[in-house]
Amino acid sequence: MPDFSPSRDPLVSELEQALGRDAVAASPEHLAAYECDGLALYKERPRVVILPRSTGETARAVRILNRAHVPIVPRGAGTGLSGGATPVKGGALVSLARMRRVLEVDTVDRLAHVELGLVNADLSAHTARWKLTYAPDPSSQTACTLGGNVAENSGGPHCFKHGATTLHVLGLTVVLSSGEVVSIGGPEPDPQGYDLRTLFVGSEGTLGIATEAWLRLVPKPEVVETYLAPFSSMDAACRAVSAVVAAGILPAALEMIDDRTIAAVEASIFAAGYPRDAAAVLLVELDGSRAEVRRDGTRIQEICKNHGALRFESATDEEQRKRLWKGRKGAFGAMGRIAPDLYVMDCVVPRTRLPQALAAISEIADRLGVKCANVFHAGDGNLHPNMSYDGRNAEEVRRVLQAGEEICRACVDLGGTLSGEHGIGIEKNDFLPMVFRPAELSAFQQVRRAFDPDGLMNPCKSLPSSMCGEIAAAARAPK
Ligand SMILES: Cc1cc2nc3c(=O)[nH]c(=O)nc-3n(C[C@H](O)[C@H](O)[C@H](O)COP(=O)(O)OP(=O)(O)OC[C@H]3O[C@@H](n4cnc5c(N)ncnc54)[C@H](O)[C@@H]3O)c2cc1C
Repeated sequence: MPDFSPSRDPLVSELEQALGRDAVAASPEHLAAYECDGLALYKERPRVVILPRSTGETARAVRILNRAHVPIVPRGAGTGLSGGATPVKGGALVSLARMRRVLEVDTVDRLAHVELGLVNADLSAHTARWKLTYAPDPSSQTACTLGGNVAENSGGPHCFKHGATTLHVLGLTVVLSSGEVVSIGGPEPDPQGYDLRTLFVGSEGTLGIATEAWLRLVPKPEVVETYLAPFSSMDAACRAVSAVVAAGILPAALEMIDDRTIAAVEASIFAAGYPRDAAAVLLVELDGSRAEVRRDGTRIQEICKNHGALRFESATDEEQRKRLWKGRKGAFGAMGRIAPDLYVMDCVVPRTRLPQALAAISEIADRLGVKCANVFHAGDGNLHPNMSYDGRNAEEVRRVLQAGEEICRACVDLGGTLSGEHGIGIEKNDFLPMVFRPAELSAFQQVRRAFDPDGLMNPCKSLPSSMCGEIAAAARAPK
């Protein structure tokens, strides 16, 4: 909500004059709502929150912030899990929450031109009348914005088949930290000049604020089938996943849910009918033509049975199918039953190393006395160890953070990497040297400077904090 109280901060007055009072929030109550994203382990209040209504207003606000040398932190819905939208160094948040129009849908070329404060699920709801859909579907899709998805290169259960956000972005309108507006790509499939789209997608708000995008749409499939395969061991379930992929089958989704998550989901409003006695449940979705789905369904059933599945059930109707997905997508919310706070981690290992990675996670959690449950995109080897904790207990928080670092190290040692979809943010910026050499990190910093010479755009994120000194100094120095 905008702030109507009089303010003495001259920056706030200048922003109010330029954009109107309803576009600027600066009262302590409003700022408190923006002090973190979905990673509540780190908190800092922004100096001011700006809610522009257009690309032009965003550019006007950024020019004012640049002149005042104030760090600029882009924000969508704040569902990020790596602290990317958490303000740092007295920064200003630029929230796209009011920019959520679908500007155009081209049903022939299957494209949508949208403002990037649009909520992910609202795009597919809008295009359903043409039987078109936007494929990347983060589990947070009813809340997160397409701008956040672009910045994090978000994935989702159905990205195993369709690929993550980067494969669905054709063009972007971006406000640079100078306030200049640039186009990166566009509706045409093959842009001229350097193709900067893949550089920008996944850059976590460090290269500019993306305000509009041209996104690819895909036709809704003729048939969708969802299957549930419970297993008595997580190892066996993981081996079944590798065997499905090795057989050359491309399911729309391959999701794994462990016993602790099943217990939390089944005791919650997200109860999906997952068997409580299973050590793991594999959720498989197939889409395509009727013949394809029937053929692949039979083959996956055989593979699961050969790997010890206790049963193999198909959702009998659309209602049951939705219930199975509600359990998976509501799993993080269901964890609220275990403890008041949840740390949702995100790391990746090669699919065939999932059993070793899960064994390492379990050893680390047990040794450090941390409650950890796993629900993950098994097809992509993308793990989400979920640690439940009480943020009021400093000693428990310390153990959770240590477990997080050790889990990242274990995944990297198994040939994996630090993030599949949640990004680096402030959560893992100091872990980057686990996977990059100094020369590589320095190259990242140079790319960043080319877009943002003053170091104002989401500073101290996605680079080790040891490389943030000059950004902090720039933010303090008057121009
Ligand atoms: C319950 C739950 C389930 C989740 N499931 C998934 C999942 O399945 N897959 C997945 O990938 N993620 C998942 N997430 C994480 C999160 O929802 C995604 O990262 C999402 O893309 C963040 O979108 P947002 O609008 O909330 O962005 P925010 O959290 O507001 O911002 C995220 C980052 O993007 C930057 N940013 C935001 N908007 C812009 C913009 N317009 N231009 C430039 N930079 C911008 C911010 O500075 C920040 O660095 C989940 C989160 C929750 C809470």
